Amino acid sequence: METFEIADITQKELFVLIEDLPGLWERKGDWNEALLQLHYRRYHESDESIFGSIIYTSEYYSISLFVEFNRLTETARFEILVPPVGTGFGVGLERRLRNFMLSITKEDLEILVAFPRGKFDCPYCKAQYSTRSLEVTKEGYADCPNCGKAIQLVVE
Ligand SMILES: [Zn+2]
Repeated sequence: METFEIADITQKELFVLIEDLPGLWERKGDWNEALLQLHYRRYHESDESIFGSIIYTSEYYSISLFVEFNRLTETARFEILVPPVGTGFGVGLERRLRNFMLSITKEDLEILVAFPRGKFDCPYCKAQYSTRSLEVTKEGYADCPNCGKAIQLVVE
């Protein structure tokens, strides 16, 4: 179990962080880490706090993430738990994921809030992509992985 805090995070930023953690992990994490999927999430809210239970899965393991967000201080306290599996995959993952989440910057979160991830059509080559795996600048530009041209993502 790894426990840590992220300070100075808005409720909206917290929600996009949880939704897009698999995408962030794919874009910014180590190339040899397994891809994650958001499998389950549930939130309970009170006037002061939001409590979240989240499960991510990969081919090899599942990750439980618990969060307690304080609305007044805009601080999120996380617990990561990766139950051990017989194959040995996932050893050290709690620590790696904790360090990864702590390395996500305010600017990363602001870009995610401004340009939510989804599908896009390249206006030049008409290729269709999910933006999950793409780097997006703070002005909302990404490079089309097919033709390489810079595309401005439109917020719907
Ligand atoms: Zn293109």
